[in-house]
Amino acid sequence: MNIGIIGAGPAGSLCASRLSRSGARVLLFDRRGAWEKPCGGGVTAKAVARYPLLNGCVETHRRIRSLAVISPRGARTRVMLEEPICIYSRTVLNQLLLDRAVAGGVHFLQARVLDVRRREPGWELLTDRGMHVVDFLVGADGVNSFVRKKWGERFAAADLMMTFGYRIPKEMDDGIAIKFFSKFRGYYWVFPRPNHASFGICGRLSQHNTQTLKQLLHAFLQESGHLSDATEAAAWPMYSALIPSLRPHSLRNNRICGDGWGLAGDAAGFADPITCEGIYYALRSGDLLAEALIEGRAGSYPDRCHADFAADFIHAAELFERFYAGDFLGADFITRMVQAASRSQTLRSVMNAFIAGQQDYRSLRTKLIRKSPRIIVEIAASTFAKFE
Ligand SMILES: Cc1cc2nc3c(=O)[nH]c(=O)nc-3n(C[C@H](O)[C@H](O)[C@H](O)COP(=O)(O)OP(=O)(O)OC[C@H]3O[C@@H](n4cnc5c(N)ncnc54)[C@H](O)[C@@H]3O)c2cc1C
Repeated sequence: MNIGIIGAGPAGSLCASRLSRSGARVLLFDRRGAWEKPCGGGVTAKAVARYPLLNGCVETHRRIRSLAVISPRGARTRVMLEEPICIYSRTVLNQLLLDRAVAGGVHFLQARVLDVRRREPGWELLTDRGMHVVDFLVGADGVNSFVRKKWGERFAAADLMMTFGYRIPKEMDDGIAIKFFSKFRGYYWVFPRPNHASFGICGRLSQHNTQTLKQLLHAFLQESGHLSDATEAAAWPMYSALIPSLRPHSLRNNRICGDGWGLAGDAAGFADPITCEGIYYALRSGDLLAEALIEGRAGSYPDRCHADFAADFIHAAELFERFYAGDFLGADFITRMVQAASRSQTLRSVMNAFIAGQQDYRSLRTKLIRKSPRIIVEIAASTFAKFE
């Protein structure tokens, strides 16, 4: 089979590798090759455990062991991560995956795909370097996927997170910090990256435009002493890009494959609806699409994704509003969770398991209810200890 894959990000390169190693002829197109995509580059333990090849660029990623969470009301907790989050340079990570694909026999073409047209059978791919014919088309071309726009369904603004941030050339300690704002569907982050610090913010595209995000980020940077005035920020390299964060009904009706085509990674809408983690799901969906094609059952791809992670995305998407804008015991939900976590080792352990990918959304509520007696005892003990 001749397979044409548009996009050599994590989804496209991994899919290409697997297909080629099982005997398919694969053409992989990317207009940029390996590049520094706007991205935190944070990879959770579940990704490294499932794809040990990620250890192949070990010296250029950082292992982060501490996560500080700040709530809308300023409550703070620091979770010491039992399993580190690895921060990769995206150029290095993408190059690793692309090199592996090429070593496995993939034919890589640095070209922009301008159009795809149906032939009977197969497809014609028109690029800025020429025309190619393939039997099956994979759209791994990111959140702005033109394959999705042409053959699937466009993302609605309410299914996207807009990001805005700066790459600041300064050394940070090895911790990630995340801050939430009142009734704001998104968060602010500080990520120590391989040779700079990334300060950024994300929010629902349908509710906040880039200008609002920029103002919020500047206000927070000034408040936290990282920015003295707005002119200083003008000198920093900035980024702004989208991340999919699908609502429940969009996930249920998400069309990710059809006759002779399939979507993977961001193009398929596969990022965690709450945390926006996307690299693992790009790898995973690229892998699952390849597996379905190798078995000659392309139509089974949506079911494979559903069984593996997409069903849990629906639970996450259903939680989205309650998580970001819900109230609990007279304050916002996040403040109450952060206050409780700062006093309860049990709750911090649940957070640890969640961040490492060992705890899904589906059973999170039940687990919290089951552990609530112990959490309450720990909170009470910590409160009384303060008065002693
Ligand atoms: C600011 C920001 C921070 C993020 N932080 C994290 C994080 O810390 N951890 C995490 O897990 N996820 C994070 N994400 C999400 C993550 O970046 C994506 O989910 C992930 O890159 C998706 O991989 P992909 O292979 O699907 O697409 P991409 O990595 O976007 O790759 C798509 C590729 O397609 C190519 N392409 C597109 N159109 C064409 C065309 N017409 N012709 C040829 N080539 C084309 C592009 O050049 C690109 O290389 C973040 C995203 C953003 C925006």
